[in-house]
Amino acid sequence: MYRTHHCGELRASHINKKVTLSGWVQKSRDKGFVAWVDLRDRYGITQLVFDADRTDEKLMEVARNLGREYVIQVTGTVIERASKNPNIETGDIEILVESLEILNQANVPPFTIEDQTDGGEELRMKYRYLDIRRNPVKNNLIFRHKVTQEVRNYLSSIDFIEIETPYLIKSTPEGARDFVVPSRMNEGQFYALPQSPQTFKQLLMVGGMDKYFQIVKCFRDEDLRADRQPEFTQIDCEMAFVQQEDVLQSFEGLTRHLLKTINGVEVDAFPRMSYDEAMKTYGNDKPDIRFGMKFGELNTMAQHKDFNVFNSAELVVGIAVPGGNSYSRKEIDKLIDWVKRPQIGALGMVYVRCNDDGTYKSSVDKFYDQTDLSQWAKATNAKAGDLICVLSGKTSAVRAQLSALRMELAERLNLRNPKEFAPLWITDFPLLEWDEDTQRYHAMHHPFTAPKPEDIKLLDTDPGAVKANAYDLVLNGNEIGGGSIRIHDKETQSLMFDHLGFTKEQAKAQFGFLMNAFEYGAPPHGGIAFGLDRLVAILGGAETIRDFIAFPKNNSGRDVMIDAPAPIDQHQLDELGLKIK
Ligand code: ASP
Repeated sequence: MYRTHHCGELRASHINKKVTLSGWVQKSRDKGFVAWVDLRDRYGITQLVFDADRTDEKLMEVARNLGREYVIQVTGTVIERASKNPNIETGDIEILVESLEILNQANVPPFTIEDQTDGGEELRMKYRYLDIRRNPVKNNLIFRHKVTQEVRNYLSSIDFIEIETPYLIKSTPEGARDFVVPSRMNEGQFYALPQSPQTFKQLLMVGGMDKYFQIVKCFRDEDLRADRQPEFTQIDCEMAFVQQEDVLQSFEGLTRHLLKTINGVEVDAFPRMSYDEAMKTYGNDKPDIRFGMKFGELNTMAQHKDFNVFNSAELVVGIAVPGGNSYSRKEIDKLIDWVKRPQIGALGMVYVRCNDDGTYKSSVDKFYDQTDLSQWAKATNAKAGDLICVLSGKTSAVRAQLSALRMELAERLNLRNPKEFAPLWITDFPLLEWDEDTQRYHAMHHPFTAPKPEDIKLLDTDPGAVKANAYDLVLNGNEIGGGSIRIHDKETQSLMFDHLGFTKEQAKAQFGFLMNAFEYGAPPHGGIAFGLDRLVAILGGAETIRDFIAFPKNNSGRDVMIDAPAPIDQHQLDELGLKIK
């Protein structure tokens, strides 16, 4: 038997007990006549003691020569510590070791295996198995386990069934590129890895499994952005015989359950906001509503003077920065530089100081008087002591810029408290989205999303105005889930494919299986998928999803530990019938 107890288990009540422990050498200290070794495993650290009076000389020698991260097994007696350590759970005791076996030696690790390590990110990724021995990473993985456990508990308790769907499938467009897998047995043909199990979960509804979920890997060959992983995990869900309200209620329930069991936080009914309202008030479809700084549109009160920058703009919009009037001229100039950075792209920024005496001082005093400025203050909800920041230009661009500024300022003003949770449903998304590159409409969510029945008539005349029964769940400014009510009849689905620019043949070749299924009694259905990695990170009060993934890829999509992707043998290529250019 390798161990009778683990390294986080022994307490004063075990004193005089003979025990066997196994683990890694965290560190050792040698005072000549006494040597101590900290033995670590997943559960904690237990101090081992070897002393010249009670330990035989050979064993003393072995103990003195243990290297960091050696794997050892010891047997000994639990004794009371002379100087107790209140900081660790086993701090009252130590083990007087009687025998020790080295189970495996270890090279000196390339970084310190401690909570605060000296290892840089890339190095820690390369030796991720060592990084996992560190508490912060280990605890995140345990935390993730707890979240998935609670997801399974809750969904099972309301009759959802976890069903696996295949990974080797046919390409399903969901906006990103597919990762493809060549088929050896069908030369020249390829599987695709699922971007999500979307069509399969819909087929499960046709199959009568009216409440499905799956904690499932999804794969998207997207251009890499910070904190995106080419493979990621979804909590994927679908329900039959439901309307939007049923789906929202069920998954509000799940989210509330997680916040309660994982974070000990009770949240009221989640607020809801339409997509249009979110864009208008926050410039963004995933607003962080833990703080204000709502947008105030100023067109009507800023386009009546000779200021051409505003007069020629599609949108003039501002936010009030709480306490911002205390910024020096230099600080404001820096803020202006910040919005003018290419990543943000604003052409400039107009500002208004709201003085304590109720007067205003703006960067455009030449054009606007106190009455104008007081209207701006009203529209942006600015109080004395605030600073109003105003951007102008094309609506979509300006909204994105001001939204970025709002988030940046909130960060600087410490308004984004990770311990506070502000969920929000965004509803009534547009069905279609215009794509400048391809000069045509794309499905905003995916092609299986149902248009609102009353809007179908607009599909031909004003496609951009058609709304969908599609929704996102936003938590603290992050989209944590998204879904929709689906099309469940062949005619509407085929109409949708027409509008997305598919020919009848293309639609049939790609989605014939789904349209066929719709002819065999498809029930009304809808669902949602949560991004598990991000959800876990937010519940864990952290920003980066990598910290919650056992073996993540780096920002260039590489696994630096196993060194993938990598070339394959000519022999493998030949077998697959593939040629590299
Ligand atoms: N399949 C969708 C996605 O991955 C989620 C859904 O519509 O249920 O975003």
